[in-house]
Amino acid sequence: MKGINISEMLKENDIKPSYQRLKIYEYLINNRTHPTVDEIYKALVVEIPTLSKTTVYNTLNLFVEKNIVLLITIDENETRYDADTSVHGHFRCRKCKKIYDFEISVECMDLKDFEVYTKNVYFDGICNKCL
Ligand SMILES: [Zn+2]
Ligand SMILES: [Zn+2]
Repeated sequence: MKGINISEMLKENDIKPSYQRLKIYEYLINNRTHPTVDEIYKALVVEIPTLSKTTVYNTLNLFVEKNIVLLITIDENETRYDADTSVHGHFRCRKCKKIYDFEISVECMDLKDFEVYTKNVYFDGICNKCL
């Protein structure tokens, strides 16, 4: 890990940095593929045999609650997670199911007196690799 102390970062967000939580967050930072609970579990259980899917799920919920991880519900069948909490759009390819990040700037003048907590921009289609 370069530049970021995950343990300190979790503490700053009122999250007790248990070994499993550290590993789950580290996985999200190192794998910017918007993984599912299943993917994270399968990747980490090799290293942490005591890990359960419920722990992964609960940990991700906590991260989302504390706003250090984004929940992506672009696919109604599976929830994905993103450690990049900056505002960006997601494009999902119908063929390879890969989710791409793209830059957006959203200034919604119509909502200027509103309090906005989350901004989701979802596109779907076929990516340039699959075309
Ligand atoms: Zn594709
Ligand atoms: Zn993303």
